[in-house]
Amino acid sequence: MTAILEVKDLEVTFRVGPMMRRQDLLGVAGVSFDVNPGETFALVGESGSGKTTLARAVNGLQPISAGSVTFQGQRVDTLSVREMKPLRRDMAMMFQDPVGSLSPRMKVGDLVTEAFRIHRVEADLQSETERLLSLVGLTMDFAERFPHQLSGGQARRVGVARAIALNPKLVIADEPTAGLDVSVQGEVLNLLGELRERLGLAMLIITHNLHVVHHVADRMAVMYLGRFVETGPTEEVFSAPAHPYTAALLSANPEPDPDKAQDRITLPSEVPSLLARPAGCEFHTRCPWAKDKCRKVVPEATAINGRRVACHYPLDEGARPPPKKEPS
Ligand code: SF4
Repeated sequence: MTAILEVKDLEVTFRVGPMMRRQDLLGVAGVSFDVNPGETFALVGESGSGKTTLARAVNGLQPISAGSVTFQGQRVDTLSVREMKPLRRDMAMMFQDPVGSLSPRMKVGDLVTEAFRIHRVEADLQSETERLLSLVGLTMDFAERFPHQLSGGQARRVGVARAIALNPKLVIADEPTAGLDVSVQGEVLNLLGELRERLGLAMLIITHNLHVVHHVADRMAVMYLGRFVETGPTEEVFSAPAHPYTAALLSANPEPDPDKAQDRITLPSEVPSLLARPAGCEFHTRCPWAKDKCRKVVPEATAINGRRVACHYPLDEGARPPPKKEPS
């Protein structure tokens, strides 16, 4: 199958600091992945892991410093904003803040059909409004409402309708359930799953919420300090995380089945600054399994049971209590 999106060795660098002491900060540090038609791929990580920067780079909203982004066979990282515009019909973005991302002065009917006007697509906007609202489970009377008259879940549905208006091939969704109650999160996730099946959409989901990933993603990548530490099929990663960071994230994710409940792995210390990346394995300052080699040698990503894992000592049986410290 030909991938709809291919990202190779992508890097994003920011120049930070006062004029005389400018420093380069590597926000995304050489990541590669692809997304197939109809597939959902999730980028997971704590805040500051680089996942949103990566998604913005894929969408052409963030310049890249190395690597490439190819969408439907065409390099897009070399395109200007103007050249990128027609491609945004096929690569739609859903922004994080469901209400804040909607113009407060526009009615829902105009919001869901705005893409037709932006891309100058001829259509019967009344029937498109009806079609789009129905696809996201809203009735036509919502067309006359303003964003402040919507609940968080309804606003998110409007955001979904906007994203799918022109039948894109890929939807990039940044924290699709952020700010929503748990029950509403489930409804939004079910909606995304249904639309994916119905419209054959590929999705790139960016989230720190592991429930979201488990619910919708076929494959996933776990990011730490702008790098992928583990990538693979979602079910396999969830059932037996091989990287200690993945295991820690999953252990912090309450397991609904008490028989499967795992001990929580508490990560000591804060996430290091991107301006002071640790030597060797960048996770070693927080890793309960770190050994001498980890502090000196950068681990290469290697294939383990269908996944790629960047760790010298991967966990072969999933999450387990960290080893007791040897007396010094
Ligand atoms: Fe932990 Fe070492 Fe693996 Fe890094 S390489 S994740 S420090 S065990």
